[in-house]
Amino acid sequence: MSRTNHQLRLAQRPVGQPKPTDWDHVEEPVGDPGDGEFLVQVLHLSIDPAMRGWMNAGRSYIPPVEIGAVMRAAAVGRVVASRNPGFAVGDHVSGTFGVQEYCLSNGRGVTTVDPALAALPVHLGTLGLTGLTAYFGLLDIGRPQPGQTVVVSGAAGAVGSVVGQIAKILGCRVVGIAGGERKCRVLVDDFGFDAAIDYQSEDVRSALRRHAPDGVDVYFDNVGGDILDAVLTRLARGARIVICGAVSQYNNTEPVKGPSNYMSLLVNRASMTGMVVFDYADRYAEGIAQLAEWLAAGRLRSLEHVVSGGVAAFPETLLGLFRGENLGKLVLTVVDE
Ligand code: NAP
Repeated sequence: MSRTNHQLRLAQRPVGQPKPTDWDHVEEPVGDPGDGEFLVQVLHLSIDPAMRGWMNAGRSYIPPVEIGAVMRAAAVGRVVASRNPGFAVGDHVSGTFGVQEYCLSNGRGVTTVDPALAALPVHLGTLGLTGLTAYFGLLDIGRPQPGQTVVVSGAAGAVGSVVGQIAKILGCRVVGIAGGERKCRVLVDDFGFDAAIDYQSEDVRSALRRHAPDGVDVYFDNVGGDILDAVLTRLARGARIVICGAVSQYNNTEPVKGPSNYMSLLVNRASMTGMVVFDYADRYAEGIAQLAEWLAAGRLRSLEHVVSGGVAAFPETLLGLFRGENLGKLVLTVVDE
């Protein structure tokens, strides 16, 4: 069967906020799978803040997307042709398929997903990399103990909403930091956080004094910048800070400014540790099994913010992350089955 692929390829490296012209729309025929390959029709794309970093040249935890290459994206899709015995036509699969409608794969880094376990977008969020980031970052680096105070920023997003809920399952007091009254209400009413701070209308430092009177034992940082600096002033002795991301800094045109309150680490015998979810690849199955169990038991709620419009809507959808338009995991649907 002849099929046409629509793709977004990186045209140039953005300066500051990405623009639609930073990508080229390319249309090309879809090739047939070779021996050991299979063809995936992409159904849903994961939209991640990290995509902004992948567009920059330079050393990071993963190589940059090359100019002319298909924009990197995690996705879920369905196998529509196969010459690989491990993947059958009709299987639902998850992998780094890119911002395109079809992807030829040899199976490396691809896993099958069970749509009966949860809707496909959930496999990009709570049962995908963002859920695993929350799980391993909090448990392995944050190491919260029952009764301790856990603060998480970007709290209404994909990673943050799962971090806060896991901390509640573990018996912690949980304070979320998010933008806007609606998100803060959802954190408390729907996700069961003990308190929420709207960083757009409240002074984070004084709000923390109210909501974390004994100090912050674990801070899970998704945003960096001024919010990290504010939390540093409220650490409890022996606090652990998980540096998961710094979304407030990703579109900077100036070099990132480090936290000025870092001496609080010394005073409080605290630590600040970076984490990258890929380092836990050999434990993903363990993380997904636990997250799936909590989901099935109703102890964990998964929220997806699903946008339609396919590959052409990618640039505008990505910018929505930096405007805080998403509540929960942002997913762009290419084909709704
Ligand atoms: P997300 O939180 O679902 O979406 C991004 C959110 O960031 C927005 O909804 C917005 O929420 C907030 N934001 C945007 N600009 C901001 C600013 N200037 N200041 C404060 N908040 C801002 O995204 P996610 O996928 O869950 O990712 C969260 C963080 O985890 C990111 O930093 C990402 O890079 C990181 N991450 C790290 C790993 C790892 O392995 N280390 C893996 C996955 C993700 P508000 O409306 O609340 O502002």
